[in-house]
Amino acid sequence: MTVDLRSDTVTRPTSAMRAAMAEAPVGDDVYGEDPTVAELERRVAELLGHEAAVFTPTGSMANQLGLRLLVAPGQELICDDAAHVVRAELGAAAAVSGITTRTFPTAAGRCDPEAVAALMRPDAGPYMVSTSATVVENTHNFGGGTVSPLDDIRRLRKITSDAGVRMHLDGARIWNAHVASGTPLSSYGELFDTVSVCLSKGLGAPVGSVLASSAERVAEARVWRKRLGGGMRQVGILAAAGLHALDHHVDRLADDHARAKRLAEVVAEGVAGSIDPGSVETNIVVLEVPDAARVMARCREQDVLVGALDSRHLRAVTHLDVDDEAVDRAARVLVSALRA
Ligand SMILES: *Cc1c(COP(=O)(O)O)cnc(C)c1O
Repeated sequence: MTVDLRSDTVTRPTSAMRAAMAEAPVGDDVYGEDPTVAELERRVAELLGHEAAVFTPTGSMANQLGLRLLVAPGQELICDDAAHVVRAELGAAAAVSGITTRTFPTAAGRCDPEAVAALMRPDAGPYMVSTSATVVENTHNFGGGTVSPLDDIRRLRKITSDAGVRMHLDGARIWNAHVASGTPLSSYGELFDTVSVCLSKGLGAPVGSVLASSAERVAEARVWRKRLGGGMRQVGILAAAGLHALDHHVDRLADDHARAKRLAEVVAEGVAGSIDPGSVETNIVVLEVPDAARVMARCREQDVLVGALDSRHLRAVTHLDVDDEAVDRAARVLVSALRA
């Protein structure tokens, strides 16, 4: 059996999740008549401490709807240079919403209030681009699943609120941050103007994300979702998977975190200098390797799939479909691939 650690997006719905999907009451959600979607939106909004929420097909759409609500065309977004919104959404902020971006360098992608404060220019006058918003990604994907400390986010909120700059949370993996830190979801959520969350990463739903914000902003997001072709009909069948995941797959993320830590420990023991297990905070393990493509290919020969962040870094992600035994096998294969 292949152990697939490329991403936590590769999970397949469990049979209990499929049963919940099959039984979901549905209606036409473009008419606002799907009770299962309405229930998911209500629950996610409540969890995040917001008034309202809207279901979207992808996390990218949830992020981009959030950004366009906060930043007018020609105005500026500030974020770290490894943020998903600037690296992995194909320039959507510029291409779809006319948003310009400036970034600051980051190692692990943690919230950096000083860097934002140094870059932002909220009312830059008639010659310079004015800053409208900034993004925090928590946990940070390309940063290696790092958790941003609540105190740092609070400090950033104070700085941006004083300047009239808005904040979007890319919370694709906010569930992992919540489980790893014990911080309530609403404590994170209430510090942001808009929040996106993914149901199809560690939570294991096949499809779906949610954007939460004020009722007024969410109403506007619905218009833009439809305009972009994201108005879906009997989509309660997918929302049901999300509701099932909220009930059954949040607390268990602690298992994914323990397995990621274990993977890092075994690899560190086998190959000195490849990783510091102390750097693993959630379900993402980033390994420094001499030649990522070669190590990846050797692992593949032994049915272990990992991803490459760049030519010198591999990424392994634990998830719902990877148990203790699979992680142990992946660790052994990684060690032998790194030694070869
Ligand atoms: C996966 C991910 C998204 C959204 O991805 P989609 O594939 O569009 O659902 C957004 N932000 C982060 C940090 C992610 O890891």
